[in-house]
Amino acid sequence: MSGQGAHPERARMPDLTHLIWPFFSDAHRVFAHGLNAWAQSGLPEVDHEDVDRSCRRLVRALGDAGWLKAVVPAAFGGHQDHLDVRTLCLAREILSWHDSLADFAFAMQGLGTGSICLYGSEELKRKYLPPVRDGHHIAAFALSEPEAGSDVGALTTMATPDGDHVRLDGEKTWISNGGIADHYVVFARSGEAPGARGLSAFVVDGDSQGLSVAERIAVIAPHPLARLRFDGCRVPVSHRLGRPGEGFKVAMATLDVFRSTVGAAAVGLARRALDEALGRATTRTLFGAPLGSLQLTQAALADSAADIDAAALLVFRAAWLKDQGAARITRESSIAKMYATEVAQRVIDRAVQLFGGHGVRVGVKVEALYREIRALRIYEGATEVQKVVIARDLLKAQESAARP
Ligand SMILES: Cc1cc2nc3c(=O)[nH]c(=O)nc-3n(C[C@H](O)[C@H](O)[C@H](O)COP(=O)(O)OP(=O)(O)OC[C@H]3O[C@@H](n4cnc5c(N)ncnc54)[C@H](O)[C@@H]3O)c2cc1C
Repeated sequence: MSGQGAHPERARMPDLTHLIWPFFSDAHRVFAHGLNAWAQSGLPEVDHEDVDRSCRRLVRALGDAGWLKAVVPAAFGGHQDHLDVRTLCLAREILSWHDSLADFAFAMQGLGTGSICLYGSEELKRKYLPPVRDGHHIAAFALSEPEAGSDVGALTTMATPDGDHVRLDGEKTWISNGGIADHYVVFARSGEAPGARGLSAFVVDGDSQGLSVAERIAVIAPHPLARLRFDGCRVPVSHRLGRPGEGFKVAMATLDVFRSTVGAAAVGLARRALDEALGRATTRTLFGAPLGSLQLTQAALADSAADIDAAALLVFRAAWLKDQGAARITRESSIAKMYATEVAQRVIDRAVQLFGGHGVRVGVKVEALYREIRALRIYEGATEVQKVVIARDLLKAQESAARP
């Protein structure tokens, strides 16, 4: 479906000329070109109607080809001692250009194990990272609840001590890979302090007793998504990530790594939209000449090219900073995620407009992109949340600069 457009098929390749930027090493360049070549020829045929099956196939294919090594540290077969954010961003940018479900499959393997990489015991890492790396095991990250999305401190899922276990009771919603995951990183209230300081994180096996899928959720760009119920679900205390009460810290540190990668996925979708728009601009005849000869069309193309470059620069600035060893990159990753997802929406909207009626025709690539970009402005912190985070960070810096 994704290859169908209203203009003749062209050899489609994403623009990777930005790999020359100084943010990247030769290893990044080799990785990006290799992944792109593989995606061009090796991506399994994806049925966007049967997302469970497609995601399982994609995860297995990504694992078999070795691309999921990017989501684990070197001790577990990864590329670097730490998670290399530039590699994660390049992977998401390239995969989302080719197919957003492939990007989703890759991204969730990372997000669903990031907390284990950062805070897990050696035993947990040994148990959970290799099968994720090999694509044998599907990962998920379960933070959001029906009454606690943007407001993480309002979580009510309880973690009650029960000998050498904790008992989880409550609900999680909007959980990507919900229903097909082999493990979930679950955040619950353990009560050490009120609000966000009283949460802990646990790794929960997908087949645990007391864990069930309450509802499968259908969204405009389908992927496996569910509301989960925990009814007295017993989890060994040894499955806790970090110390008791550190759950919020675990979640934020994980999102600090992965937030820039959401921006990278948005860049990939936007690049694809611009490529589609360029194809249309050169093949559609309007008023006796190519659509692209109209100056308003040229303005739309120029705006999109500038938006994409700016977004990519912000994404890779944040990723590079993290890879240089910055403890936290909260402001930079929030700016990257906010800016890239917002401009990608505009770039895609311009592409839809250039396609005219075909732009909203089901099965045309820009129509799919229009649906696929939307959730990126909401999950892992909506744009408004990113603005609050950025402004708070600026004000804090201003206050400490003003202090004598
Ligand atoms: C497709 C999809 C996949 C997801 N996958 C996962 C997942 O795998 N794991 C997981 O834990 N969660 C996941 N989520 C949940 C996602 O993180 C939440 O939807 C998001 O945090 C927003 O929470 P909410 O939906 O409860 O909206 P609310 O918290 O009710 O917020 C509604 C809106 O209010 C606005 N807003 C928020 N804060 C402010 C503010 N301070 N000032 C002004 N306006 C504000 C924003 O526009 C926001 O979108 C997913 C969501 C979607 C849509």
